[in-house]
Amino acid sequence: QLDWNGKKVTVAGLGVSGIPAARALHARGALVTVVNDGDDERSRAQAAELEAEGITVRLGDGATLPTGTELIVTTPGWRPDKPLFAAAAEAGVEVWGDVELAWRLRGPGAAPWLAVTGTNGKTTTVRMLASILEAAGLRTAAVGNIGVSLLDAVLGEEEYDVLAVELSSYQLHWAPSVRAHSAAVLNLAPDHLDWHGSMEAYAADKGRIYEGNQVACVYNVADKVTEDLVREADVEEGCRAIGFTLGTPGPSQLGVVEGILVDRAFVENRQKNAQELAEVADVQPPAPHNIANALAAAALARAFGVEAKAVRDGLKAFRPDPHRIELVEEVQGVTYVDDSKATNTHAAEASLAAYDPIVWIAGGLAKGATFDELVQRSAKHLRGAVLIGADRALIREALARHAPEVPVVDLDRTDTGAMSEAVREAARLARPGDTVLLAPACASMDMFTNYNKRGEAFADAVRALAATGDA
Ligand code: ADP
Repeated sequence: QLDWNGKKVTVAGLGVSGIPAARALHARGALVTVVNDGDDERSRAQAAELEAEGITVRLGDGATLPTGTELIVTTPGWRPDKPLFAAAAEAGVEVWGDVELAWRLRGPGAAPWLAVTGTNGKTTTVRMLASILEAAGLRTAAVGNIGVSLLDAVLGEEEYDVLAVELSSYQLHWAPSVRAHSAAVLNLAPDHLDWHGSMEAYAADKGRIYEGNQVACVYNVADKVTEDLVREADVEEGCRAIGFTLGTPGPSQLGVVEGILVDRAFVENRQKNAQELAEVADVQPPAPHNIANALAAAALARAFGVEAKAVRDGLKAFRPDPHRIELVEEVQGVTYVDDSKATNTHAAEASLAAYDPIVWIAGGLAKGATFDELVQRSAKHLRGAVLIGADRALIREALARHAPEVPVVDLDRTDTGAMSEAVREAARLARPGDTVLLAPACASMDMFTNYNKRGEAFADAVRALAATGDA
């Protein structure tokens, strides 16, 4: 355990990870200064609270390194090219993220981590994994973006046998010494490149999750980059590379054979060369990308020694979170599905592959993405498209280039009410048996506070349509 007494620690950023970090360090006797770029009403209120507890807060200047700083603990959202980090590098000051801090503050004998990263599917996989571990009778929690925060899980009263931990690429960037029991990289597609600087840097940050793994590095057979990252990682002796695939699994892989999820990596009965885990139909929703998530979760659980039956029970008990390919309602033979969480093209491609034919509602903030590949790959599923939001022209142009036969309704609107009109237009394009799919492939902030609100607006409009025949 580190001696924090009198150590000068600078916490970069107030907010959901900065404030608990500052408090945890202060409680251990560190001399904490929080620096924050913003100086608005909210941060002033937060600062006043912390100051009253004896923590120094400097608002409106997140660039200058406070004199005497021995360590920076940063909010994961802070970009590595910020001046504060340049100053830290110059002064030879170490930088930790919230995950590194949680790792270092764990007590002796703390629960091991089963860690998950990837461009898409992290939250779902971590929750499936926790469900499986629970079914095995283990004390566990799904930790990360939703539910329990990592710091709370590590420092709280509750005791755990093992934690299912979601790690973002930002968090991994600032987590040099974290060592998981086993870890999975689900997939890698360009995202957040503005933050990381390049695809290589993004992949390298994701690959950090494998460093020092003890038992298994789980990779996606269909995504070669994830396998390369395993090969480049420095792991503990005896740690195995375990693949997951939607096809027939090879040795040391989990996969699918005739609608059954099977494990050829961790086989309980040595007479057999594969262990049956669960049926595809046990997984909600049974869309291909989600079966991949289930296999990754199963691989991590199996690496931890969980029996096949608990994998099945845990997957069966799992229910997806709202706005992730969520069935809203069927209206006049048309199924309405909310995948508002598809905030990038890679995620949207997964849900567009899961239905046919589709009336697609898309658009929002593109975050620098291009839509040609997505449209090319998904065009054959499209009955029509309804476009909303700030960057809808980019999608319209991609549709014109690659799917000129698909009818497109371009709603020239970015107000919140546009979603009702979009649902009405989609209902007009759809025929019985079709799916109307909200999979925006874009962020929501041009029209909504967040993707939850966007999904709720969609669901409300669908329910209005069901009740009155008009959205
Ligand atoms: P994350 O936590 O990585 O953002 P989520 O589990 O919240 O991932 O899912 C985000 C979106 O990504 C979902 O709406 C779904 O459409 C899509 N998605 C989920 N799993 C995958 C996957 N394995 N591959 C591609 N897209 C996925």
